[in-house]
Amino acid sequence: MLQKFIIALLSLTLAAVCGAWGYSAWSRGTVALVVTPAGASAPVPVAEAAPKPVARFAAANSASGADFSYEYVAPRSAALLPVYERVRDADLLRKLPEIDTLDGLLVLPRPLRYVTAECKSADAFYLSAKGEVVLCYETLQVLHEQGQALGRDNKLGDEFARQYVLANTRFIVAHETGHALIDQLDLAITGREEDAVDQLATTLMQRFARADESPQQVAENLRMAGNWFLARAQGQYNLDAYADEHALGEQRYFNLQCLIYGGNPARFVNIVTDGDLPEARAQKCPDEARRAGRSWLRLLLPHVAPKYAMTEAKANRFFMQQEHARARNAEGPYLR
Ligand SMILES: [Zn+2]
Repeated sequence: MLQKFIIALLSLTLAAVCGAWGYSAWSRGTVALVVTPAGASAPVPVAEAAPKPVARFAAANSASGADFSYEYVAPRSAALLPVYERVRDADLLRKLPEIDTLDGLLVLPRPLRYVTAECKSADAFYLSAKGEVVLCYETLQVLHEQGQALGRDNKLGDEFARQYVLANTRFIVAHETGHALIDQLDLAITGREEDAVDQLATTLMQRFARADESPQQVAENLRMAGNWFLARAQGQYNLDAYADEHALGEQRYFNLQCLIYGGNPARFVNIVTDGDLPEARAQKCPDEARRAGRSWLRLLLPHVAPKYAMTEAKANRFFMQQEHARARNAEGPYLR
């Protein structure tokens, strides 16, 4: 099925999103550029950010983690009203399992708010000055249209578009949450921040998925998110693309396949045998996946609210139990 997605995605006309997508990290208080669908660039000034907060080692006087807040901003464009009403009525932001798990778990120096809003382009970003993760209605609309087209072309059923939107939304919001945590907690990251937060999003979706999601569903959600990267695939790029803070869409796609396969090579060997991940890369993936998950755990552990008395060993036991519970879900005589 995955290869069908790829073929369908490559054949889709994605003028509405190709240039815009990347997930911005407007966390540096500088002028950010949003590439418009037409390829023109419009400077978007972002207020100068406050000095970076000094990293705080799980503030000793705070036993509880920070509660997030959520807001659905009414759009000015009438065309976006239906998507606004859908996400507001569904309370979409509170239905994202990964964010729900993080809500109240970490001690943060500043409030963190999740917002859906009209942005004038399909995007998602973190605003350091406001402490906001923003998901644009335009992105949800493009995802929905793309999910509908894929579902129709590949006869995947009426439910597919909804699953596609939700899976991608989970990844995108988790990715932007990574930018927020790096900024607010002043986390040490070497290498490209965009790669690091892709790894966090993947890890969160693997470890904090709902208990009733099977390992296959978890992987399928991630692979839907991976295919979104291919929406940007053009086969050839100009210098701006090579210089971009994001890896090329194809590279982000293969990095994600690597983490899915590497998380459980025996279960997901078909990713390699189906040709979705070259064998030479696959050999390194178990180590890559283990290091990515362990590194993010070690980065965040000092900021887990003291009341959880969390340790690396305790966290790993919890992840293992969750993994076994999900595996049992998948192997039972029937599914709920
Ligand atoms: Zn990003």
